[in-house]
Amino acid sequence: MLVVGAGLSGLTAACELIEAGFSVLVLEAADRAGGRIHSIKDPVDDAYLADLGPTWVWPPYQPVVTAWLERLNLATFEQYEAGQGVVQSAPDRPVDHQLIPGQHGMCRIVGGPQALIDGLLATLPEGVLRLGTQVTGIHADADGVTVETDSAPLPVVRAGQVVVALPPRLVPERIRIVPGPEPALASILAMTPTWMATQAKAVVMYDQPFWRHQGLSGRVASRVGPCVEIHDHSSPDGDHALLFGFLGVPHEQRAQYADVLEDALLEQLVACFGPQAANPLWLRIEDWARNRNICSEHDRQSDPAHPEIMDDLVRQPLLDGRLHLAGAETSVISPGLIEGALHAGSQAAQAVTRLRSRQPSAD
Ligand SMILES: Cc1cc2nc3c(=O)[nH]c(=O)nc-3n(C[C@H](O)[C@H](O)[C@H](O)COP(=O)(O)OP(=O)(O)OC[C@H]3O[C@@H](n4cnc5c(N)ncnc54)[C@H](O)[C@@H]3O)c2cc1C
Repeated sequence: MLVVGAGLSGLTAACELIEAGFSVLVLEAADRAGGRIHSIKDPVDDAYLADLGPTWVWPPYQPVVTAWLERLNLATFEQYEAGQGVVQSAPDRPVDHQLIPGQHGMCRIVGGPQALIDGLLATLPEGVLRLGTQVTGIHADADGVTVETDSAPLPVVRAGQVVVALPPRLVPERIRIVPGPEPALASILAMTPTWMATQAKAVVMYDQPFWRHQGLSGRVASRVGPCVEIHDHSSPDGDHALLFGFLGVPHEQRAQYADVLEDALLEQLVACFGPQAANPLWLRIEDWARNRNICSEHDRQSDPAHPEIMDDLVRQPLLDGRLHLAGAETSVISPGLIEGALHAGSQAAQAVTRLRSRQPSAD
């Protein structure tokens, strides 16, 4: 049994398939697992510091997230919102301080969403995950599938079934599937935006959360930029003092002005929080639009949009039951989100398990 992609949906599928008794191999193009989930850890003690990808879950509204947090023994804490926010309405106007209400139930996971990835990885037996192995082709025949990769040590793998846990738009761009998907499915895959794939996130670490000491929440709403919104991203006790922001600059301009982006960001932070903001311990901008394993060409060329629930076609087994799609965007609940990724991975594993009795050679 093969899983393509070691993001949250692929690892969830792998974990459940192994639990159901399948022998599983996970092929991942990148040199790390996690996909859009990517945390920065302290190089000295490996402690979690910040998220370059997702940050939030909403446990009161997300039963699947809640169940997995419990299963992996992970705790959450509320997003820090105490104090006033900063509103930047125009470049030539001073900032305003206002209460900016947070979202009910919005939480962070202790250890970041990376803790979900690390928890799932810990359930996989040794040798299940092959990093640096990009799948380039899947060919179905009467007995199963032949999967081609770009990896010299493992150019071809045979399997009974394959779970493809990629953003749907990437699938036709990166993997040649034979026979190809029906036109209706091909068009649905192409039309499904990859959530946050064209976004960029900035993370800044300081020696102390000085904004908290000024009665500020760390929240910024800006029409000036480069970040359109900024949030406190410190550890629950404030020991690690961080802010993060979403850049409001389109990806083409980010590429064009890459060399001045950090200075512009520091200028914004100083305008919002005062001169102490000029001297971070470090600053990092993660541009997801540059990641070819996440952001498809189609995503880069279209306006970002939140994925809606896709047509049932994407949740049907393909290639006569040999191929199952499982990226977060294929989920019927919270498509594109962490909740969606966990649900989609789980659903794909269950679909494979249901077909086992029909195809005894499903491994
Ligand atoms: C900046 C940002 C902020 C976000 N914020 C939130 C948030 O606050 N809350 C929330 O719920 N969600 C958020 N999300 C969305 C969340 O990250 C995703 O829902 C989730 O991580 C998707 O997991 P996935 O496994 O479905 O896909 P991915 O994480 O995209 O994983 C796909 C994997 O497939 C691999 N791959 C690609 N092509 C191949 C190939 N040909 N062969 C082998 N491997 C391949 C990729 O390298 C990757 O590891 C955010 C995302 C981003 C980028």
